[in-house]
Amino acid sequence: MRKRFGPDESPRPGATPPGLRPSGNETPTSSDGPGEPGPSGSSPEPALLAAYRLSRHHFGHLGWWPGETPFEICVGAILTQNTSWRNVERAIGQLKAAGALDAHTLFALPVERLAQLIRPSGYYNVKARRLRAFLTVLVQQFDGAVDRMLAGATPAVRERLLAIPGIGEETADSILLYAGEHEVFVVDAYTRRACARHAWCAPDIPYGDLQRLCARAFSRVETADRLDLLRDAHAQWVMIGKDFCRPRAPRCDGCPWRGLLPAGDLRPGVTVTRG
Ligand code: SF4
Repeated sequence: MRKRFGPDESPRPGATPPGLRPSGNETPTSSDGPGEPGPSGSSPEPALLAAYRLSRHHFGHLGWWPGETPFEICVGAILTQNTSWRNVERAIGQLKAAGALDAHTLFALPVERLAQLIRPSGYYNVKARRLRAFLTVLVQQFDGAVDRMLAGATPAVRERLLAIPGIGEETADSILLYAGEHEVFVVDAYTRRACARHAWCAPDIPYGDLQRLCARAFSRVETADRLDLLRDAHAQWVMIGKDFCRPRAPRCDGCPWRGLLPAGDLRPGVTVTRG
């Protein structure tokens, strides 16, 4: 996959994707169909689609995941845990400069040297062990071929990834979606926080429940390229979280999702000036 935009780069606005064209009224209506009720009592699925439509209109198509090869995407997905993408880029830059961004070469490195190279990504000793665990499976079971490792039915490949120490659901799904071309919805802390503030889910909703909720909403979209839609949806959620839906001081004024806030029922930590 060619690198286009990274999480810390400025994307450009673009066209709304087919099947998600603005209706002129961004407020979802009951005619959008039934779904599981959120904490507010109504189905959040139309609102989730409206949210995507609005952020896509604001940011444009984001072209994620940054990474030149599926292997680089896997490495980035592991290194990005608990750090900014800018730090991941520095770590990957060091791996490239050392000529080590290749499965067999990286696997042959002593774990101490690996940790040294990925130091900019933070938690480098832990991440070196996690990377090493991933590489052990990749090299010893699949001869370093990411396409072979990620081939097969999505649930089976997901289980394969989750069995590797240090690979959780978000990392596994990121690898599946962006490196393996599996049609899964990736959710993360950004997704949970923004959705909870809009009362589309509970703040402590389990990963799988939020993933199913989002997947169900997006399954209603008619598109010729569902993979691209799912890739872009996660990217849009991350950009909303990074640029607007901050943990302590959300920037609701100016946020594309501002019009979707529940009137008179603002979530904890959310303040908004009504114009
Ligand atoms: S910043 Fe405000 S309007 Fe934007 S997603 Fe967060 S809570 Fe919603």
